[in-house]
This record gives sequence, structure tokens and C-alpha cells, in this order.
Amino acid sequence: MIPYGRQSISDADIAAVEEVLRSDWITQGPSIDRFEQALAAYVGAQHGVAVANATAALHIACLALGVGEGSRVWTSPNTFLASANCALYCGASVDFVDIDPATYNMSTAALAAKLEQAKAAGTLPDVVIPVHFAGQSCDMEAIGALARDYGFRVIEDASHAVGADYRGGKVGNCRHSDLTVFSFHPVKILTTGEGGMLMTNSADLHRSLQRLRSHGMVRDPAMQQEQGAWIYEQQELGFNYRITDIQAALGLSQLTRLDAFIARRRELAARYDRLLAGLPLAIPYQADYGVSSWHLYPIWIDEEKAGRSRRGVFDALRASGIGVNVHYIPVPNQPYYQRLGFVPGQFPQAERYYNGAISLPMYYSLTDAEQDQVVAAVRQALGQ
Ligand SMILES: *Cc1c(COP(=O)(O)O)cnc(C)c1O
Repeated sequence: MIPYGRQSISDADIAAVEEVLRSDWITQGPSIDRFEQALAAYVGAQHGVAVANATAALHIACLALGVGEGSRVWTSPNTFLASANCALYCGASVDFVDIDPATYNMSTAALAAKLEQAKAAGTLPDVVIPVHFAGQSCDMEAIGALARDYGFRVIEDASHAVGADYRGGKVGNCRHSDLTVFSFHPVKILTTGEGGMLMTNSADLHRSLQRLRSHGMVRDPAMQQEQGAWIYEQQELGFNYRITDIQAALGLSQLTRLDAFIARRRELAARYDRLLAGLPLAIPYQADYGVSSWHLYPIWIDEEKAGRSRRGVFDALRASGIGVNVHYIPVPNQPYYQRLGFVPGQFPQAERYYNGAISLPMYYSLTDAEQDQVVAAVRQALGQ
């Protein structure tokens, strides 16, 4: 089976992990700071805060921005569950903004229209979480302008987009947002096993995230009410969302290959574009304001033109040993969200995309020969 995604672990990665295992610190050691500083420098942000996973990162991102009971958070329906669940963890309400049929990202036009309605109704969001689907940045300049006009905060869910480019900078530089979140799950671009990191340019948010990551505790004498070398003070309610030094060492080692990871993914995407041309499917449209990091390569089966169903094509691909997947079932269509009151048909563009979507294999170590095999299987599944 050729999987849709997989990690690439080198001997150097293994050596880096082993070195930590033989050291005095296996959690909260020096690798965490180094990983945070290295990735922040890479993307061009002031601060990084590494955590246990991106779901934890989204949770404390919301808390750091003051999301709580009565807050409103909006995100994209075409995302993983965590982009919406994070708001519910804080007691906030969640709503969705339909996607752009070309980029599959949250539509800026739909966002502007929904904001105008919400303003009239007095229900403007406190936080909007755009998701850089498949590794292509949302149009953050436009979203940042709306944030200023309507007074909401922005968390970029860049779980797919570490290494992606947007208008001459790297995704994660937070030029048009308060915070950016990355995921290092093995299926993503760079891995630490489980892991995630938050980026910010705000010293206040940086401190707040560090506290929330570790029980709301401070050990800095300047921040404490009582003094003494043994003193730790809980000043707010936080969590244990820490990453280990073992994981951070893996991340640091992986980071030295991030540019190579991205370059190969871009090569594979260009090759898919070429090899799939002329088939009754849509290849992923790329806006000219950036360059994707290609976490996913989603094709959209045009069922009418193809005379085949997405399900039929998907099953045929799986049967021929291609580990395709589907990203994403729209979050509001999940049973839990339907119980919260969302109804089918509410986000028609996300549903239309979902009904034709298939993610083809896309990862650093995928060879040209394996990719040719994938394309041959797609042709066969389409009867072409
Ligand atoms: C993977 C993913 C997450 C969650 O990442 P974890 O590190 O697994 O918690 C959140 N948002 C999106 C868009 C993702 O793809």
C-alpha cells in the first residue's frame, strides 16, 4: 500500500533523539528552547511556544485571546475537528464561514458578508480561525484588514502549512494575525511524533501561552507574590500541554531538512498537475499570492464528466493499493455538530468540495515511480 502521507526519519534524527535520551533532561530540557527559537527564526516570528500537539495549541491560543463563555469563534468547515473544538473547550460558541470553491480555504467574500450581517445583528465574532488547507495560505492580508475593521482577533491554523510562502514571507510570521499554530503529527510536513507550536509577535501572548502550557504556573521572581527558591505560583488555570525534550530534539533535527521536504513536495505537486491534466477531475488551484507547502494533494472528481462516483473512484484506488483519503468531512456535518444545531446544506461549497474530494499520496519519500503508479491507478479508476 502506498499511504497518503508518512514521516521521513533520518539517521541524524535518530541520533538527535538518542543524545537526549542519554542526557540529564528528557523533558523541559534545552532542546525545547532551541526548537522554539529555530522555528520562530525560520518563519520570521518573534516567539515560539512548543506544546504537546496542535489541538492543545489551538486550545491555549483561544484562552490567551480571552475566549470563554459567551465568546464567538468562526472557522472553516473544511478542516480537521480541532479547529472548531478548541472554541468549545473554552465554553464559546462556534460558527463556520463557507469555503472558496477554487482554493477550498475560507472564502474572504463569504467572511466579509457574514461579518456585515453579524454587525447588524450584534453578533460579531471575537476570534476567527482561518485554516491554510492542504498547505496553501488563506489571503491573510484581506482577513487581517477585516479583523481591523470589525475588531476580531485571528488565529491561523497552519497545521498544514509549515514552510509555505505567502506574499514574500513565511506562513507563521503573524504579520496579519495574533497567533499561528503548527502541527507536528507524523502525517504533517515535519514531525515530532505528537507535537505542535504557536507563533506570535506579542510578548504578552508569549508569556500567557507559556503559563497556560504548564498549569498556569510562574517561577519568575519578578512575577511572584512570594519569594524563595522553592516557590512556584499558580496565577491562572492552566494545563500540562508540554512537549518533551526528546520530541523537540527530533523537531530540531527535522527542521534542518524542512526546505528539502518542501522542495520535494512542490516537485511532486507539479508532477501530479502535469500527469493528471486532461482527466475529468480538478487539480488543486493555486492562488498567485503564495506557494503551498503541499501537506495534501487533493483532487476533486467531477462525477458528471467522469460518469463515475467519488466513492467508486476512491474504492477502486484503495483496492489497487493506493492509500487515498478524504479531507475533510465538513465539521458542521459531524453528528456532534448537528446536535448543536447545524443542518446539512448550510455550507454548500464545503459540501460540494467534500463530495468529490480524494487526497492522493503526498510525502517527501514518495518516488517518481510510485507516483506514476498512483496516476496509472487514477486513470484506471476513471476508465481513462
Ligand atoms: C492535524 C490538524 C490539527 C490537529 O493537530 P494535532 O497536532 O494532531 O493535534 C488541527 N488542525 C488541522 C487543520 C489539522 O490538520
